[in-house]
Amino acid sequence: MTPADFAASIRTIENYPKPGILFRDITTLLGDARAFRRAVDELVQPWAGAKIDKVAGIEARGFILGGAVAHQLSAGFVPIRKKGKLPHQTVRMAYALEYGEDEIEMHVDAITPGQRVLLVDDLIATGGTATGAVKLLQQCGAVVEAACFIVDLPDLGGAEKLRGLGVAVRTLVA
Ligand code: 5GP
Repeated sequence: MTPADFAASIRTIENYPKPGILFRDITTLLGDARAFRRAVDELVQPWAGAKIDKVAGIEARGFILGGAVAHQLSAGFVPIRKKGKLPHQTVRMAYALEYGEDEIEMHVDAITPGQRVLLVDDLIATGGTATGAVKLLQQCGAVVEAACFIVDLPDLGGAEKLRGLGVAVRTLVA
C-alpha cells in the first residue's frame, strides 16, 4: 500500500477533541483488515531480524499497534501509561502538552539495561509524548533504536525532535 492508500484509510474528524482541531482517527485503518496488516508489516520492516528486545507502546492506541508489532518481531511488550494506571512500582517522566504538562509512567523493572527498544504510537505531532517516552526508556537503560508511527504531522516538528535525540523515526503517512 502507498502512503496515499494508508491516508485514505484514516478518517479525519473536524473539531475533535476541541474546536479548531482536525483529529486523525486511525480506528478506520484498524478496522480494515488489509490496511491494519500492511501498516504493521511496513512499520516493522526495517527491524525484521534486528534483535529488538522490547516494543514499548504509548497508551492507548500505541498498545494496539505495539502488541501486533511485538508479536511480529518476537519481542516483549512494555506499556507506557498515563500516571496512576500501572500496579507495580513505576518510574515517571513529565512531558510537554500543548498547554501545560503531564506525566507518563512505566514499570521500574520493565526494561533490563542494554535492551534494544522500538517505541510505537499511532501519531506524532509536537513530539512531546514520544520525547518523554524516549527519555523514560533511556533513564531505565534502554537503547531506543527507533520510533514508529502511522501518522506524522511534520509541520509540528515532532519527528525532527526525536531524530535530534539520535532515534530513527519511521512513519507511513505525512
Ligand atoms: P504529541 O505529543 O506528539 O504532540 O501528540 C501525540 C500524542 O497525541 C499521541 O499519543 C497521539 O495518540 C495523540 N494525538 C494527538 N493528535 C492526534 C490525532 O489527530 N489523532 C490521533 N489518533 N492521535 C492524536
